Amino acid sequence: MAVKLDLKSYKSDVHNNWCPGCGDFGILNAIQMALFSLKIEPHRVAVFSGIGCSGKTPHYLNTYSFHTLHGRAVPTATGAKIANKDLTVLAVGGDGDGYGIGSGYFVNAGRRNLDFTYIVFNNGVYGLTKGQASPTLAKGIKTRHLPEATLLEGLNPIALAIGAGYTFIARGYALDVRYLSNLIAQAISHKGSAFMDVLQTCPTYNDLYTKEWFDHGSEGQSRIYKLEDTGYDPIVHDANDPQEVIDKKLEAVRRSYEWGEQIPVGVYYKIDRPTYEDELGRRRPSLATKPITEIDLNDRDIEPLCNALR
Ligand code: SF4
Repeated sequence: MAVKLDLKSYKSDVHNNWCPGCGDFGILNAIQMALFSLKIEPHRVAVFSGIGCSGKTPHYLNTYSFHTLHGRAVPTATGAKIANKDLTVLAVGGDGDGYGIGSGYFVNAGRRNLDFTYIVFNNGVYGLTKGQASPTLAKGIKTRHLPEATLLEGLNPIALAIGAGYTFIARGYALDVRYLSNLIAQAISHKGSAFMDVLQTCPTYNDLYTKEWFDHGSEGQSRIYKLEDTGYDPIVHDANDPQEVIDKKLEAVRRSYEWGEQIPVGVYYKIDRPTYEDELGRRRPSLATKPITEIDLNDRDIEPLCNALR
């Protein structure tokens, strides 16, 4: 029986204990709005998170969810998607979680091109553990809670995602919820590994990249601009044209280094390529027809497998 969906269908009744004014609220709302706009029933969605403030996101969603270990949102999401290709699978986590301890998983998920969406809450700090510098905080920056300025270069997640092979790459801003929800809906609709870096304010520990800072540049203008407003075209129109692929990647990387007075948001790069599931299904046709979870294994002869493992 079809269930009537509304925005509340995606909200759990778990008490939310994020700090007042945290940008996480905007991302949570945007995820709920995106799922509702796509009319994906909550029981068809599974959300995986790592450790950090953002790791609590699945608690606040009325979907299947798994709050995993530090940096492990992506591998668990990968396992779930391979087991049940019919699920809409999201991984969520912070920049410390995904670009620090989880960086190996982040890179290889791009190479794999599994059909899932990875949303990273990027606030430049480890909020849950009192504001240490995360991998995206640039060298020489000192937030209020750091004893000294950082010594390490900041990591560029968009450029890293381009190099890793993600087939949909976007950046959003947590406090522009409507625009962010539209980007997330595009990411979920994309067939392949979709990556979203979301600039998120942490009013408790990052006193530099605040709402006021994003909204008011040195001449009073918003620092955030939308790529599409400049005529930017992120789409690779012919995936078999290596020159077009390279040109699109180079332009996306160039834009990803804009920071300060002008910060681009929107879709940076998009290409259609066969997904991991497509490739796997070609090699194992039985996996292409049904999710593994629905394949009856009772009459399978597993003796050859056991022998091979001996
Ligand atoms: Fe949000 Fe920062 Fe508070 Fe964590 S510490 S809930 S990121 S404001």
